[in-house]
Amino acid sequence: MVMNFDAICSKLKNENYKITPQREIIIHILLNNEDKHLSAEEIYDMAKKINPDVGMTTIYRTLDLLVELGVLQKLEFGDGRTRYELNNEDMHHHHHLICLKCGEVQEFEQDLLEALEEKILEKKDFLIVDHKLKFYGICRKCR
Ligand SMILES: [Zn+2]
Ligand SMILES: [Zn+2]
Ligand SMILES: [Zn+2]
Repeated sequence: MVMNFDAICSKLKNENYKITPQREIIIHILLNNEDKHLSAEEIYDMAKKINPDVGMTTIYRTLDLLVELGVLQKLEFGDGRTRYELNNEDMHHHHHLICLKCGEVQEFEQDLLEALEEKILEKKDFLIVDHKLKFYGICRKCR
């Protein structure tokens, strides 16, 4: 499914969770920064600008809840920060490029592994539904 505001809210409501104003802020931040792979700290900084009453505990609890509900995926890129990404239906089809100098994470939007996936199905009778590929290197700015 595609994660938009209504889809996320109905997931929460289906599990009897309320759409509190603080949760709403966090959801909007996630949706408005879909390609940025934000960490909890970054989400906290942004949320604070919208509503100074938002606490770090609320951020962590909400993010955990959204992971549990399948709205978000947790990502680790080896810099000690957990980052979050919306669990969209096309998630499977992108890879991550991680700069070893500045830590910036970019997306490469194509899968291009279809031939390999087919080979694995053929040789191992194993059906691929997802994969996480991280490329480590140096970005344009850092070179
Ligand atoms: Zn860089
Ligand atoms: Zn991504
Ligand atoms: Zn694939």
